[in-house]
Amino acid sequence: MPPRTSTRTRVAASLTASACLLAVASPASAAARPRFTPGASGVGDRYFPLEGNGGYDVLHYDLGLDYTPSSNALKADATLTARATQNLSRFDLDLKQLKVTSVKVNGKRAKFVRKGQELVVTPAKGLPKGRTFTVAVAYGGDPKPVSRPDIGKFGWIKTPDGAYAVSEPDGASSWFPSNDHPSDKATYTFRVTVPKGTQVLSNGEQSPVVTRGSRSTFTWNERTPMASYLAMLAIGRYRTLTGRTKSGVPVLTGAALNRTKELKPLHENTVKAIDWEETVFGKYPFRSVGGIRVGVDVEFSLETQGRPIYGFSPDVATVVHELAHQWFGDTVSVRRWPDIWLNEGFATYAEWLYDEQHGGPTAQATFDKYYNQPKTWKYYDQLWNRNTAGDPGAPTMFTLPPYYRGGMTLQALRGRIGDKAFFALLKAWVAQHRNGNVSTPEFVRLAEKISHRNLDGLFKTWLYTKGKPTTW
Ligand SMILES: [Zn+2]
Repeated sequence: MPPRTSTRTRVAASLTASACLLAVASPASAAARPRFTPGASGVGDRYFPLEGNGGYDVLHYDLGLDYTPSSNALKADATLTARATQNLSRFDLDLKQLKVTSVKVNGKRAKFVRKGQELVVTPAKGLPKGRTFTVAVAYGGDPKPVSRPDIGKFGWIKTPDGAYAVSEPDGASSWFPSNDHPSDKATYTFRVTVPKGTQVLSNGEQSPVVTRGSRSTFTWNERTPMASYLAMLAIGRYRTLTGRTKSGVPVLTGAALNRTKELKPLHENTVKAIDWEETVFGKYPFRSVGGIRVGVDVEFSLETQGRPIYGFSPDVATVVHELAHQWFGDTVSVRRWPDIWLNEGFATYAEWLYDEQHGGPTAQATFDKYYNQPKTWKYYDQLWNRNTAGDPGAPTMFTLPPYYRGGMTLQALRGRIGDKAFFALLKAWVAQHRNGNVSTPEFVRLAEKISHRNLDGLFKTWLYTKGKPTTW
């Protein structure tokens, strides 16, 4: 709210300007006049200085998207419900590329300017700390993917009959205005209107489809808090299968019409992976599960919440990996991107554990296989010498160290603290941080608490020291 005019300042106003300033600066008057300041343009993640924004916490995204695959035309309305965490005079949203036509805060027109990926919004009135507000953005255009050297294209990817969206790490803002950082999770409603005959799959659970004339609207709700990079859409023509896991979680898998042969194995592997993972990591954290095989072949798959996207025909190891992320990454999310090994090291280790418990090599044997690779091995330098697992560097965060060296860190830990403490630790980590955000020091502290050992040296060697470890 704007500063209130007290009797005292009204009196002061009749005096000279300098007297008025003095009156405003007096302690009693200052207390009654909250200062409203701009929210920061980032959350302070040193890998992505402009990702996320300061001064508010998004509670819910309501995304109304009207999409025509033949022209890749997107016309959208996004309404975010957020709570101010400071007295806000203005705030930023992250939005790349697309054109904004109007912004309203609490239903009233707000001023906005674009500064690179920042959409800077100045509401007509300041937003008091603690108060919930809405910001509605009308926008649209021709959405395009973004890219990075280590993973290539991501964000909005066009397919012959539609598109899909996979956004790790900072691609959500290429298709909706967001607080695009995993430290601000929120619930989501996706209302996507497409030509009749085209389908839309997404995170969470589906409401009935509404068709009016030649267009159909699909509504999906993700009711469990989700990081923006895990928001997913798959638009096109799909065949789906439904079922349940052993514990009763509803399953919905889908495959593009040109990949339907892959649907049944994907469905079966999904159920098998979740049934096993619940025994090792604890109860599955979301209301439904599944997976989607898109109709084009790309290099990567992504653990989009509840329903990973597969860009190639996934073997069981890939399904185990992406679904392990539901525990490690999706419900327990990094607070800052340099800790990416907390996602990737754990999901990689899940593959090794799955092998161990299904007649394959033990996790120790897999550890030994990588540990004993000769210096002539193609990936030797990448794995051991170029970057660390615990701070792999922004442009190389999806290279081997957080994955393999991260997984090896967990095996080294298991060797030190024993199976009983190790498996108790995995379950406790998830149980304590469900729907939350975490950092590596928190994991180290929990490991020390459960094992009653000092583990600083082990983690320092394995996560933060370049070169192949020799003692730990
Ligand atoms: Zn992964």
